[in-house]
Amino acid sequence: MTTPTPSDGAGYNAAVERFRDDEYPMLRGSIYLDHAGTTPYAKSLMDKFARDMTANLFGNPHSASASSQLSTSRIEDIRLRVLRFFNADPLEFDVVFVANATAGIKLVVEAMRALPGGFDYAYHQSSHTSLVGVREEARNSVCLDDLQIEGWLASSSPFQGNGEDAPALFAYPAQSNMDGRRFPLTWASKVRRDNPAGKRIYTLLDAAAFVSSAPLDLSCTDTAPDFTVLSFYKIFGFPDLGALIVRHEAEDVFASRRYFGGGTVDMVVCVKEQWHASKNQLIHERLEDGTQPIHSIIALDTALDVHRQLFGSMSNVAAHTSFLSHRLYDGLKSLRHGNGELVCAIYTPVPNFQTRAPGTGPVVAFNIRNSLGAWVSLTEIEKLASLKHFHVRTGGVCNPGGIASALGLEPWEMKSNFSSGFRCGTENDIMAGKPTGVIRASLGAMSTISDVDSFVDFIREFYLDRYPALSLSEPTVQPQDLSRLHVHSISIYPIKSCAGYQVPEGVDWEVRPEGLAWDREWCLVHQGSGQALSQKRYPEMSLVRPILDFQRGELRVGYTGHVPAHLPNEVRVPLSQNPAVFQSSVTRRSRSSRVCGEEIVAQTYASAEINDFFSGVLKVPCVLARFPPGGQGKSMRHNKAHLQKHQMAPYPPKLLLPGSFPAPPSPPDSDTERTERRILLANESPILAISLASVEALNQEIERAGGKAVSPAVFRANIVLGSPPQPHDTQAAPYVEDTWSGLRIGCHEFTMLGSCRRCHMVCINQETAEKSEEPFVTLSKTRRFEGKVFFGTHMCYRGPIDGEGSLGAQFPTVRIGEGVVPGW
Ligand SMILES: *Cc1c(COP(=O)(O)O)cnc(C)c1O
Repeated sequence: MTTPTPSDGAGYNAAVERFRDDEYPMLRGSIYLDHAGTTPYAKSLMDKFARDMTANLFGNPHSASASSQLSTSRIEDIRLRVLRFFNADPLEFDVVFVANATAGIKLVVEAMRALPGGFDYAYHQSSHTSLVGVREEARNSVCLDDLQIEGWLASSSPFQGNGEDAPALFAYPAQSNMDGRRFPLTWASKVRRDNPAGKRIYTLLDAAAFVSSAPLDLSCTDTAPDFTVLSFYKIFGFPDLGALIVRHEAEDVFASRRYFGGGTVDMVVCVKEQWHASKNQLIHERLEDGTQPIHSIIALDTALDVHRQLFGSMSNVAAHTSFLSHRLYDGLKSLRHGNGELVCAIYTPVPNFQTRAPGTGPVVAFNIRNSLGAWVSLTEIEKLASLKHFHVRTGGVCNPGGIASALGLEPWEMKSNFSSGFRCGTENDIMAGKPTGVIRASLGAMSTISDVDSFVDFIREFYLDRYPALSLSEPTVQPQDLSRLHVHSISIYPIKSCAGYQVPEGVDWEVRPEGLAWDREWCLVHQGSGQALSQKRYPEMSLVRPILDFQRGELRVGYTGHVPAHLPNEVRVPLSQNPAVFQSSVTRRSRSSRVCGEEIVAQTYASAEINDFFSGVLKVPCVLARFPPGGQGKSMRHNKAHLQKHQMAPYPPKLLLPGSFPAPPSPPDSDTERTERRILLANESPILAISLASVEALNQEIERAGGKAVSPAVFRANIVLGSPPQPHDTQAAPYVEDTWSGLRIGCHEFTMLGSCRRCHMVCINQETAEKSEEPFVTLSKTRRFEGKVFFGTHMCYRGPIDGEGSLGAQFPTVRIGEGVVPGW
């Protein structure tokens, strides 16, 4: 192992390339660009820590035993070592070990809140959420941008009219966790020096993002902040531990802290009288309530050793990551669509080499636009990036002020997005034509040039439109292509996200307003979170095979993967709704579950045999739940599918089939219709249909790019439409289903509800549960509209062609082989 050397980047890079495979085996095959979240840890760190743990006995540091003494002395040595790492003089500073940076912030807030007159609070607008939350404890609070802070430092206090009595806390990040911007460390000293007499202003520096890629130097006590918080896992990956570094001069803040716990008190009287003597010497003794995280602190020793051994110093890391971030910035900046428009809208300021300015950390925050200027959905990018093994952070990244100012989101817009359903982490991330989050690529000690280059190549490959203007492929439809369209197969997915049940040939299958009978009536629910399980997280669900056995009146469920020996090969669930099989809601508070983020109430099964089977084969604690039709309130769900813009594109004059629909159907996207249509546990709509012609066309694209064709099963459709081989080699036009507004199957009509948006779940082989890149990668290239990827079409039952009161109306069904006539 060699310590990398920085400067031009090449020496360091070569060294990291050399040891990365041994030291960071988990990085093999993946590009980790989320160092601002946490850093992967080195293998030698874990090995060394394991040796330390197995060679020494570390007791709880409160007694005179040798093991206890060993812990105490190691912890005190490490405390000192942490101070040295930040160049902080132990005579001026103390380190308090905490769970994470947030816990450090809360300790300061807890103390300030207890001050006799409370406290005022000023925070920088680029603050992490954990700093923003402090305002809820303050008497008054203000959120300031750079200019306002400079103005404050130059002249007047931002706390005008609030009285000068209460002390204030001024908090800001050393580096924004959103876009990497760094802020002057000198602000702390300026605030102290220039503050109006009488008002005591404490400074809190959030160094959590900064310290992972730069040396924090607290050697100048004058300019140092009073409180500095950070999380070690962002520097070393391990241990999960944080620190609050307190400047002795600011310790008086903690005098009013009221709580004490085991470890922070010298004597407590509670029988007959209430009295206690808090520890009053060292600040860490007064603040570290309860048993210290002994082993985590000891691991820190190893982390510091290994980090130094691998990277030399934080300055090396800073030089290397700064070199890489310039390359990343320049790479993304240089991407232009065929029509000359920029691909990336970058929020991170131009990195500069000037040493005097605080500059920018190794982070690039950006969004992607297509050549017409439309934003590409973040969830879409995330899906593709994760398939290609890129680890980036997307979304609001816990930095509300930074996001709002970068994206130009006004408070009313954020609130209106909120009330129209936007939440952190939902799929709807472009609202009212604006993105609601960013893509953040952040680099760290073991990032390499090739990480950066592959990321830029990835954006180029998938998001750069080469042609001068985006052209929507226009479907060319020949009437004869469609004349022999028929139902090729019918699949039911009784248990959400599990394998499908093939409806046999010759069977008339009931169609209900909610979808095909028995489709997605059950789901598996995580025992802890109440979340419905999905193949996305648990691909093995595709091996859970339900069979509808009407002879026996049972849903029989087997598993085609390995079934542990203590479990049966199959469990049977009665199709009838005998209430006795469900958890009684009298003895047990009926629990709500979540399906795609939506809260529902389903009936959970009481049988241990059933639940153990699913938990055992999937290796996740779960229960089976049923969501039968006809429920009310939270036992009822509604269609969410709707027409997509690309489907409404102006196509050439529409072809009318002789004898097709009597009147053009009304547009299927009216809101009232949408809310009336019920569904069971399907993600979006009652029925999902795909056409074999489209699968064929997609497979041709995949094979052209050297990939392997996929089975239509990956799309988990209910109805697969096919056509017999066409004369003269013509194929039914692919994707023409996107243009239909209705469909006739046999003697029934269906309304199309819009294209089906896809995620990387289509990459799971439904026979083997293995994941691959396709077809999502090719779909992303060929089937992306408005930044979203579509394949297949949602639909629902409309009614019989021969009108109400007919036989067909009483019991609508579909059957394999029935003729299909589309309508526009
Ligand atoms: C990560 C981070 C935090 C929060 O750290 P925790 O370990 O989650 O407490 C706060 N501020 C910034 C700037 C961060 O990057």
